[in-house]
Amino acid sequence: MRNDRADVGFIGAGQLARMSAAPASALDLRLAVLANRSDDGAAQALPDVTIGDPDDPVAVEALAARCDVLTFDHELVDPDLLERLEEKGYVVRPSSGVMRLSQSKRQQRERFAALGLPVPAFCVVELDSDVAGFVEQVGFPLIVKADRGGYDGRGVWQVDTNDELLEVMVGLRRRGITPVLEERVSLDRELAMQIARRPSGETRTYPLVETVQVDGMLRELIAPAPGGERLQAEAERIVETIAADAGVVGMLAVEFFESNGELLINEIATRPHNSGHFSIEGAQTSQFEQHLRAVLDLPLGSTALTAPWAVTVNIVGGLAGDLTRTHLERALQIEGAHLHLYGKEA
Ligand code: ADP
Repeated sequence: MRNDRADVGFIGAGQLARMSAAPASALDLRLAVLANRSDDGAAQALPDVTIGDPDDPVAVEALAARCDVLTFDHELVDPDLLERLEEKGYVVRPSSGVMRLSQSKRQQRERFAALGLPVPAFCVVELDSDVAGFVEQVGFPLIVKADRGGYDGRGVWQVDTNDELLEVMVGLRRRGITPVLEERVSLDRELAMQIARRPSGETRTYPLVETVQVDGMLRELIAPAPGGERLQAEAERIVETIAADAGVVGMLAVEFFESNGELLINEIATRPHNSGHFSIEGAQTSQFEQHLRAVLDLPLGSTALTAPWAVTVNIVGGLAGDLTRTHLERALQIEGAHLHLYGKEA
């Protein structure tokens, strides 16, 4: 009979699970993935693939039952389902509570504000009467966010008038989603920092990085953030506080706004994150290896950079013909550049 136990089970089989394959191989760890489709990024790269829905309790429990640790490629998993698995004794890292936090912009704003951490002025709209006072305080334009369900900028709207605000809020409420209003922050730039945390509380932080977002998606990244030394200690304090308060196990990324020279928290991701892809070649220990180490409660690795600078360029969308053999060869001719393809369609 085939031994089908795995060390780590990933719910979701996108590029994050896929890029975990190399460090898993180096450490002789066996990964299993629950993929939506057989052509998902990680399903193409790993041998142990089950096709199933991340919302199907039977499929998720079957994966949990044969893995030492369950972890995540994405945040689209029902926390109640994860909580039931924890009650049955399965090891879920990060925990259901952490997943609940990472799925809710509302919870993040409320919790970080309660910790005294810097966040933009915000207002969770439960009643229509919540709105007028906040609008008066921050004025238009302002930002409306869906509490949950958004990613890559889908779920974030800038509104310029009361009518537009009303329209977005009505749309969200129709879907049963709480609107969160925010002041529109004047952005000097966007930054991010990652931290890895073990169950024991041991942590390692990565350098503060600068990210350039286009249409809500990461386009470019520079590590370390130019001129960021001034903000490094404050960013470390913030990511350490969030990781410890939530009891994160694994990788945590905190996205920041730099506004008038000060850090404000935008949002978090509790998994490897596109702000950490540079670490594959640019740091002593990549975020993918670090995540595996952390969720398996193994010693964490050095996060020091391997070069004075590392940059990421994210090639998104484009035309199917953009990645021909000629382009590939041209990219690979760049000294010191590394190309990572996810097996996604252009
Ligand atoms: P997502 O969860 O979809 O990634 P974000 O909350 O990160 O969405 O918002 C997407 C982008 O919208 C951010 O990268 C930033 O450029 C802009 N943005 C979000 N919130 C604000 C705000 N309060 N003020 C100004 N710009 C914002």
